[in-house]
Amino acid sequence: MNEEEFSVDEKNRVEKSTLYLVATPIGNLSDISYRAVKVLSEVDFIAAEDTRNTPKLLSKYGIKKPLVSYFEHNKREKGDYIVSRIEAGESCALVTDAGTPAISDPGEDLVVLCREHKIKVVSIPGACAAITALTLSGLPTRRFCFEGFLPNTKSERKQRLKELSSEKRTLVIYEAPHHLISTLNDIYEAFGDRKIALCRELTKINEETDFTTLSAAIASYKEKQPRGEYVLVIDGAAEDKEKEFDMTVREHVDMYISRGMSKMDAIKAAARDRGVPKSEVYAEINK
Ligand code: SAM
Repeated sequence: MNEEEFSVDEKNRVEKSTLYLVATPIGNLSDISYRAVKVLSEVDFIAAEDTRNTPKLLSKYGIKKPLVSYFEHNKREKGDYIVSRIEAGESCALVTDAGTPAISDPGEDLVVLCREHKIKVVSIPGACAAITALTLSGLPTRRFCFEGFLPNTKSERKQRLKELSSEKRTLVIYEAPHHLISTLNDIYEAFGDRKIALCRELTKINEETDFTTLSAAIASYKEKQPRGEYVLVIDGAAEDKEKEFDMTVREHVDMYISRGMSKMDAIKAAARDRGVPKSEVYAEINK
């Protein structure tokens, strides 16, 4: 065995007293790495967010391991229990519902706990819905901003969207089907019209990506029901707004006034189009 092969083998050895974050498929059960299968086969136990789903994946790869349930509503007690077993010398693989543990799921808390207890954490990379959607979106990928799920409460969500309205990087947001329509409306309200890729059921039989605009997406969901899991990839705020709109901020506001809007409504509409806060437009026209 040459030196390189030896060091790869060493690196792949499953160690005691270690937490492994193992990325699992987001739909297509074949999307899993050799290393992930090896780790799942060799650890002492597996902590799983969904103990009904994980056995399907394990049985496809002929893996039989004791499972411990670890999810949002038991993460405190189970986190302490998992840490105590790792501290006693066992190795644990954490798998979440789908994709990469610690990305918008309780894996984040287990990693924090392990860091506090000075437990070694190793990440086995693989599928992640955000990255899969971003690569498909056709929007700029060089710089992007991952937001996960938007806050649930109306005021927090409004505040978050206001902050994000001037974000120039491509935005990636997770959403469940029953909240999709209200989320699209909230984003449109805060950002104005923008390009968006709606990626649903990625890697599954009904996978679909709709490359559209926020207004067209809202219109299309008046005719159909959202189904499955979604990632929304939204164009960032325009870099050069004067160029994009081919008019100054004042001309933009005047255009709306000439169409019969009040000054405040015109400021609001121009701000929404430009993806900037109202206060910025207000300040600009009162210079
Ligand atoms: N840790 C996961 C990852 O790495 O992508 C994300 C977990 S988060 C709790 C679940 C959300 O991810 C879903 O609500 C959906 O927004 C997105 N998601 C997961 N699988 C997906 C898929 N196959 N297609 C589209 N979105 C998906």
